[in-house]
Amino acid sequence: MDQTIYQIAIIGFGGMGSYHTQLIQPVAQLQVRGVYDILPYRMELASTQGLRGYSSLEDVLEDAEVDVVLIATPNDSHKEIAIRALQAGKHVICEKPVTMNSTDFLEITASAEAAKRVFTVHQNRRWDPDFLIVKEIVEKKKAGEVFHVESRVHGANGIPGDWRQLAAYGGGMLLDWGVHLLDQLLLLTDSKIESVKADLSTILGTEVDDGFTATIRFKDGLTAVIEVGTTNYIKLPRWYVKGTEGTAVIRDWSLEGEIVRTNPDVAKVEPTPIQAGVGLTKTMAPPSEKSTLRLPVEKATPPAQSFYENFAALLDGRSAQAVKNEQVLRVLRLIETVFEAARTQTVVKDTDL
Ligand code: NAD
Repeated sequence: MDQTIYQIAIIGFGGMGSYHTQLIQPVAQLQVRGVYDILPYRMELASTQGLRGYSSLEDVLEDAEVDVVLIATPNDSHKEIAIRALQAGKHVICEKPVTMNSTDFLEITASAEAAKRVFTVHQNRRWDPDFLIVKEIVEKKKAGEVFHVESRVHGANGIPGDWRQLAAYGGGMLLDWGVHLLDQLLLLTDSKIESVKADLSTILGTEVDDGFTATIRFKDGLTAVIEVGTTNYIKLPRWYVKGTEGTAVIRDWSLEGEIVRTNPDVAKVEPTPIQAGVGLTKTMAPPSEKSTLRLPVEKATPPAQSFYENFAALLDGRSAQAVKNEQVLRVLRLIETVFEAARTQTVVKDTDL
């Protein structure tokens, strides 16, 4: 049976826009029809890759062969491009953070509903192997019942590029990396949020946050520390997960890590006290080797479809949307709550999130 081929036009051919061509390429049903970028040298680059160049956004929207508009421009421009594309009858994929606030996002989803077109957000880090491992640790109770998660990304290179340092463009690390880490966190539990506490950092003197720490407590008792840093010359682990039977660590994207947990086949053995500084301690001694297991972290089964395989199947009506708009809305509202908690220096409760 012949499959429908969907043609995609990329708006914004910078770092991420050009990367999308590699993500789309393996999916036979999707083809990149062309590119539009406001910068001539980015258009020249697209041309050297054999891609059709459009002279303007109108030019793209008037091309009846274009089925899908992919938005990979700076964050402040997503909303206008999305609404214009939907009104022109195109389906839309938008880079994260979809918008700078939840009100703008609701305008987009209303436009998508009115136009009866698909609108979805590229929350690609749901497919990250490190996250999938943690999700399996939680779901399969590999460290018992997980009651605390710490998820961090640390760098020492400050805020990269130009627009990411400016508030008007939706810069700052909470909107940039925070949107990924919070999206991942909300997929680890079905529970509602009880409270949010947060601090933004502005060590580098930029007008936007160069990092943040948010402490989130869920109604089911799970607590989480979510942290982004751009001034960390020594990184803390990417994930630190505590369960009732053990602790898991994943150090970075190389997936180096381990789970240390109680051995269910051996009765608990008292630890031997250790010298700690000038004193002795049993409390802080390592657990007895005899009654603990040290397990490697195992790669988790990836989702059956990649982001783009899901998108093609969605347009065909064969699959449901992987990144649901109500999930995206919840993450945006959580980001707004983190900003509020940091600004007011209070613990925000009754969030209904
Ligand atoms: P970038 O600065 O490298 O590229 C942006 C491009 O958009 C530039 O070439 C610029 O000239 C062009 N542009 C700006 N305004 C435009 C307009 N109105 N019409 C057409 N082109 C326009 O930025 P980037 O790092 O590629 O980020 C782009 C988007 O992708 C952002 O929303 C960012 O958050 C997102 N992003 C997502 C991921 C991810 O893993 N999902 C990673 C990086 C960036």
